[in-house]
Amino acid sequence: MNIHEYQAKQVLKSYGAPVAEGVAIMSADEAEKAAKSLPGPLYVVKSQIHAGGRGKGKFKELGPDAKGGVRLAKSIEDAAADAKEMLGHTLVTKQTGPEGKQVGRLYIEDGADIARELYLSILVDRTVGRVAFVVSTEGGMDIETVAEETPDKIVTVAIDPDKGVTADDVKALNAALKLEDEAAKDGEALFPILYKAFTEKDMSLLEINPLIVMENGRLRVLDAKVSFDNNALFRHPDIVELRDTTEEDAKEIEASKYDLAYVALDGNIGCMVNGAGLAMATMDIIKLYGAEPANFLDVGGGASKEKVTAAFKIITADPNVKGILVNIFGGIMRCDVIAEGVVAAVKEVGLKVPLVVRLEGTNVELGKKIINESGLNVIAADDLDDAAKKIVKAVSEG
Ligand code: GDP
Ligand code: MG
Repeated sequence: MNIHEYQAKQVLKSYGAPVAEGVAIMSADEAEKAAKSLPGPLYVVKSQIHAGGRGKGKFKELGPDAKGGVRLAKSIEDAAADAKEMLGHTLVTKQTGPEGKQVGRLYIEDGADIARELYLSILVDRTVGRVAFVVSTEGGMDIETVAEETPDKIVTVAIDPDKGVTADDVKALNAALKLEDEAAKDGEALFPILYKAFTEKDMSLLEINPLIVMENGRLRVLDAKVSFDNNALFRHPDIVELRDTTEEDAKEIEASKYDLAYVALDGNIGCMVNGAGLAMATMDIIKLYGAEPANFLDVGGGASKEKVTAAFKIITADPNVKGILVNIFGGIMRCDVIAEGVVAAVKEVGLKVPLVVRLEGTNVELGKKIINESGLNVIAADDLDDAAKKIVKAVSEG
């Protein structure tokens, strides 16, 4: 689960990290009052969307010469005018895709005088099996670009879970970020704070780009992106409260209600599969035959008819879906349950695209019988290869 920048800053602030004063607003009327409550004279008006690159982003409705999604304003009036121009419009950044994201919230923040922009993130480094800091002196820009062009400017410091952030770790991080004097002291305090927030709140990613050294020599968290491990959310009701479902894919929200492992993709072949491995293999083989999957979907081992029906409805509701491939290897899952779910869903929502079904395993004969007797226009397939070929062919002809 992701949260907005202003929410991430609140979480970090509660652990003692240095962040600017700021006010989140959802309507332009609130902008003036929000700016007035800040010290000034510099204000930053920041679009709150679950995507980075906002500063360099462009608003779809405003034309190419308009300012981006993060704006500096030198007066309360300018801040209010920017807020009015930005709210409700669609921001397109490197990370949103061409359709962009509608800006429904803004964060108005006290502006900082920046001496240097640094990069700092904390993530789970699977290669060493530890939580690690990744830092660079090259902040404020795409870390992917830094990694490609000057990889030696990125330093990783893995943390021993028994010891936490040690004095040596602090030294290494301060050296990598070239922090001295006041800033180094701030670093000494900040790194353990961030590590504590990361581990206690079960974050999967904490990215501060940029972490800044201000003109007065002090550190400040200027931007913050946080993702949480969904499997640990049950431990954090305070974090779940921060969820903004308008930022999430409607199909994924619906799927999460039924505990379905569903990920929306941008192809045109909808997939319903049991088992994550088989679902991955099904997506691979669709691509092998030259088409693209519209989703990843694992209905799980012991799915009920209701769950299968819900899954099928989510797939058919996607207007990009031009064909559906049901690929079931029934072990714990029974083929007849899948068949009943598919038939029930089609009865409810209809079927306007070709459907290929490959059933194998427990109760396969019964499953096939249910589908055959349903009168549905189903293309039967013998194995995975045959099924993929048939659905790709049906979609390309349709
Ligand atoms: P992003 O574009 O989505 O990554 O949004 P950021 O929060 O990182 O802001 C983008 C850029 O705006 C930063 O890299 C800064 O250069 C600039 N910026 C943001 N806040 C301030 C501020 O308080 N003062 C100044 N001078 N620049 C700022
Ligand atoms: Mg940033």
